[in-house]
Amino acid sequence: MKDQGFGEEFPLLPLRELVLFPHTMIPVFITYKLGMLAVSEALRRDMRLFAACLKTKEVGETYPSGSVMRIVQHLRLPDNTFRVVLQGEYRATIASSVKQKDLAIVKVAPIMEAVADSLSTETIALMRTVQNSFVQYAALSKKVSTDTLNAVEKLETPEPLANLICNALVLKAERKIALLSIGDPMKRLETILETLEMENEIFGIQQNISAQVKIRMEKNQREYILNEQLKEIHKELGQDRGEDEFAELERSIECKYPRAEVLLKARKELGRLRKLQSFSPEAGVLRAYLEWIAELPWSDSSADVLDLKEAERILDENHFALRKPKERILEFIAVHHLMALGQEKTPGTGHTSKGPILCFVGPPGTGKTSLGKSVAQALGRRFVRISLGGLRDEAEIRGHRKTYVGALPGKILQVMRKAGTINPVLLLDEIDKLSSDFRGDPTSALLEVLDPEQNGAFTDHYLELTYDLSQVLFITTANSLHTLPYPLLDRMEIIEIPGYGENEKLAIAQRFLVPKVLAENGLGTAGIIFKDEAIHEIIRYWTMESGVRNLEREIARCIRRIARNALEQDYETDTAKPISSFEQTLGQDEVEQLLGRRKYKNDLVFKEPRIGVVYGLAWTETGGTVLPVETSCFEGTGELLITGNVGEVMKESGSIALSYLRSIQDQYPFTEELGKSNFHVHVPEGAIPKDGPSAGVTVAASLFSTLCHLPPQPGFAMTGELTLTGRVLPIGGLKEKVLAAIRNGMEQLLLPQDNQDDWAELDGEIKASLGVHFVETVRELFTLLFDVPKQAGSGAFPLQNL
Ligand code: ADP
Repeated sequence: MKDQGFGEEFPLLPLRELVLFPHTMIPVFITYKLGMLAVSEALRRDMRLFAACLKTKEVGETYPSGSVMRIVQHLRLPDNTFRVVLQGEYRATIASSVKQKDLAIVKVAPIMEAVADSLSTETIALMRTVQNSFVQYAALSKKVSTDTLNAVEKLETPEPLANLICNALVLKAERKIALLSIGDPMKRLETILETLEMENEIFGIQQNISAQVKIRMEKNQREYILNEQLKEIHKELGQDRGEDEFAELERSIECKYPRAEVLLKARKELGRLRKLQSFSPEAGVLRAYLEWIAELPWSDSSADVLDLKEAERILDENHFALRKPKERILEFIAVHHLMALGQEKTPGTGHTSKGPILCFVGPPGTGKTSLGKSVAQALGRRFVRISLGGLRDEAEIRGHRKTYVGALPGKILQVMRKAGTINPVLLLDEIDKLSSDFRGDPTSALLEVLDPEQNGAFTDHYLELTYDLSQVLFITTANSLHTLPYPLLDRMEIIEIPGYGENEKLAIAQRFLVPKVLAENGLGTAGIIFKDEAIHEIIRYWTMESGVRNLEREIARCIRRIARNALEQDYETDTAKPISSFEQTLGQDEVEQLLGRRKYKNDLVFKEPRIGVVYGLAWTETGGTVLPVETSCFEGTGELLITGNVGEVMKESGSIALSYLRSIQDQYPFTEELGKSNFHVHVPEGAIPKDGPSAGVTVAASLFSTLCHLPPQPGFAMTGELTLTGRVLPIGGLKEKVLAAIRNGMEQLLLPQDNQDDWAELDGEIKASLGVHFVETVRELFTLLFDVPKQAGSGAFPLQNL
């Protein structure tokens, strides 16, 4: 590079966004004044000029670095513009500049390169890497001519290689200037390599992106074409789903007159559905969702029948006895009517009934569910029912989000759809059997449902919209109130439905159950008659219950057998008689024949009294029951063991009884010494859990019998809570207990004095079947149970201290 020298002067050719490099030849059009001046000056001098790129697009300052270029060809066009071919000579920077009119004459300093005579292996390796990278760049960018590529591959010195590559790269002017300005050849090559690698990587990513976009576009296009074809096929087959299907869905939603918000949501989802392919899973989910909205009642309601006399008639027609519950129900209906009327008179308050929620409590089979149905009938409302027994997942009440596979709304909305009106009577059956676990607490959801303040905007996870339950009349049923959480209990008006006595059951069977079961079995017109003795037989020996559910079941069993026998006879005689001609009257013996072996034999109670065995009365969820309590005593240290699956409270009753007996041991001639004996109290049947304080007097009487070695009088049953001082406190569930005593053939009752009022309220028929004794203290109870005067008279029992 002999002609590269310091201080050479050249006219400055400013270029717009064009960076020229040595070792390249390039044609340039010069159409602007400064350029034309520079070329003219160069032609006047030694054909060389200094080409530098302008910093901005406007004519002004240039970058200091540029290339000395030789004009190898030039053509002056008639309008004084030039077409020139420039050949790059060397890189340089402007050292100084002098203005000659508009033209700038610059003095330049070459960008020095320390070129070694022989290249180091490192440089060669770097050059090759750069060459390889450039080949890759050329392949990816498709913007490098084959000539340039061939030339680059052949070059063996760093400077021309770098210049050629820089010239071929498509980069912004600043970046090209940067590559132009580096003096050290190794550093320059490294920077070029970095630039190439980066560009290659960008190309790679770009290619990837465009490939994906292409695939997606192709897929969309394919789906579109297939969809169109499918539509045509459907049309050909006459199954054109067209817009009609959705329009119909939209119409059926509109027909339900939902709130504006619901309609808006439905239309939005319909819009989405229209865009989906009909067979896609998402479309299925959306359609099911919209169908739910279309089928739920949003504003349809049934008109309330406001007629108390009619309500009373319906209740009496459907149910025997239940005087108190019926009265309470009628009062409830009356209040409901008054509230409805009041709301009509003050428009704008909305027709919502915010009275308390009825809760029927009683043993199974006492008619709670059917009472609920009658309330609906009396009010002229639809009736729906949800069984809450064993329900432990909140989602069963509130539903699952529709994103889950197979999701559905919760039970509340399911029954609302079934009801078809927004004001049905909704019976929540067995509310005491709700349980909660890790899947959430259904009680909290139920609280929302039953809260008049909140149930106007009940949220279901599936629906994603609030639903108005404020006009629903809720009725709940439960067997016991023990397990109900307080907040739930607080919202409800409790109506107790106690069990039935034997005569009540007989009447229910004759008037309701027999005709109902006959009709259900297609024998409504047949002349089948159950004599009273037949029903009594079933009640006594095939059922042991407070309600009439098993009675109904056993009657049905009888009737099914009769139907079968009748048909078999027809087959034998080969004649088909009309059902109405079929007649049979059932007495005690016929029932035994039809039902087989008796299920209950009244063997709970010993015929002969035994020492240590006394009978208590207990209340359970399924009604009352007789609880035999047995005690045995053996040598020991005064310890007490109670078995028979008894709870903590009952165990405490045992301890209280023993402590009480200890406190009075001086006053009685106990044959066993309390401190030197152990006692084992057992309450069969061992598998049934028992608890509660009302067995206190029974345990005390059983221990007393053992201690005195005296048998109790036969036919006595008792109940009462015992205190440490021997007082007898009142108990609950008296009617259930009394009915259980009657069922088990007991004749005399020992009851707490304070339960006298409860006794007075019982039906005369029940009271007449038993003798009753009210006691204030357990001493009085002992006197009656062990007939102390008589025992004393016989000399077997010392009376002096009683
Ligand atoms: P629950 O809901 O209390 O368990 P159900 O309402 O299911 O009981 O009653 C069981 C059956 O007994 C039904 O067929 C019902 O009609 C009948 N039943 C119960 N009590 C009466 C009654 N007092 N009068 C007429 N039928 C009754």
